[in-house]
Amino acid sequence: MKNYLSLSSLQTDLKNGNTTCNDVVTEYLSRIEGNKHLNAFLEVYEDEALSLAKQIDVKIKQGTAGKLAGMVIAMKDVICHKNHKVSSSSKIIENFTSLFSATVVERLLAEDAIIIGRTNCDEFAMGSSNENSAFGPVLNPIDNKRVPGGSSGGSTAAVAAGLCLAALGSDTGGSIRQPSSFCGVVGFKPTYGRISRYGLIAYASSFDQIGPITNCVEDAALIMEVIAGKDDYDSTASSIAVPKYSEELNSKGKVKIAYISECIDNPGLDPEIAAYLKNLILKLKEEGHTVEPVSFPYLDYMVPTYYVLTTAEASSNLARFGGIVYGKRSNNSVDIDSTFVKSRSEGFGPEVKRRIMLGTFVLSAGYYDAYYSKGQKVRRILQDKTFEILKDFDFILLPTTPKTAFELNSVKDPVTMYLEDIFTVQANLTGLPAISLPMGTHSNGLPFGVQLIGKKFEEAALLAFSNHLYPNK
Ligand code: GLN
Repeated sequence: MKNYLSLSSLQTDLKNGNTTCNDVVTEYLSRIEGNKHLNAFLEVYEDEALSLAKQIDVKIKQGTAGKLAGMVIAMKDVICHKNHKVSSSSKIIENFTSLFSATVVERLLAEDAIIIGRTNCDEFAMGSSNENSAFGPVLNPIDNKRVPGGSSGGSTAAVAAGLCLAALGSDTGGSIRQPSSFCGVVGFKPTYGRISRYGLIAYASSFDQIGPITNCVEDAALIMEVIAGKDDYDSTASSIAVPKYSEELNSKGKVKIAYISECIDNPGLDPEIAAYLKNLILKLKEEGHTVEPVSFPYLDYMVPTYYVLTTAEASSNLARFGGIVYGKRSNNSVDIDSTFVKSRSEGFGPEVKRRIMLGTFVLSAGYYDAYYSKGQKVRRILQDKTFEILKDFDFILLPTTPKTAFELNSVKDPVTMYLEDIFTVQANLTGLPAISLPMGTHSNGLPFGVQLIGKKFEEAALLAFSNHLYPNK
């Protein structure tokens, strides 16, 4: 089989009869089997995917197939899919079978996407390396000694290794964009509220967004127009109309781009990534775009604010996993207290425990004002300052990650790991859409992403300009 890098090229072959969904799924299944060492998938739905493929092949012949016919897609293990397991890569709900499907799953299936399996991730989406999964780390397909990034590392590794055409991830602080940068794929985090979170296992509800991981911007646009939009099951899902993103990818107008000097000149940024961005800025100017530096002297507040607020929300969201209604009950529990304590102590991994404790601390009566309430105020300032930039500019250009993928087990200190998120959390703190485009290759052979943040609910413009920067291969 050809290595399809866009749904449109695959659909051309499907229409011409050069291939079938059955062939495509068969090929992906064999690649998944051949790449088991990556540990990208926690479960593969062989029979179901093949049977769906056959049904969709019939629909293609009849001319009744949906818009995503041929789209073989993987789901991060935090997205509910009726009658399928969903575990958040955690032992605590290892054997939980979902009773309903997330809105995104319903919408994908309605357009004839084929869900091929669920992918490994950091436990409860907490991490930047996929090393926090209870089911073992995922390996970076480009260099197996390195991490794929996290928390959607299984999803990005699967797309990068050609084990599926696309995947869904979730992004609370960078979990789609950072691993996309590490693995060399396109990762898109929509505006907060653009996509229903119904059926997404929550980490931090005021930050979480589901988004696509693809080989090209066009596929991200196609998936977006299928999964985005209002939903009666999630009141935070906006009713703002969803444009046909894939039909608006060719706008060629000149744009205004701001770049944050404190990011580009950051001493922690790999010099080759910095040089690449500076060169890109020159090229964009030559093309006639307005590209100007802006100062944003709040970088140091970003990661601490993110970790105060997200751990607070996580401590509340994860309270339900107590061995009573949700979560495996400890065999060592003898009464109600020991049921909670032992089930949670045995069920959660160390990073999740750390965050629950941190979050409980920042919400506790004596420290609420000093941390949680202050964090909310700082979040507002960060939002206001970012929105100010976007009054004068269409996009903000910045790196996705400070460095390329690091080696497994090399980052031992949690704070160093948290600083991985330095360039990605701004979009989540402000609710803005952001994309990572795999434009760079480092002299160490590893890919790195270029990040663009767009205006609220203006994904169409962001995707169109991204498609210009990173056209289909
Ligand atoms: N790396 C970040 C964290 O550990 C982002 C996680 C995410 O976006 N889910 O919180």
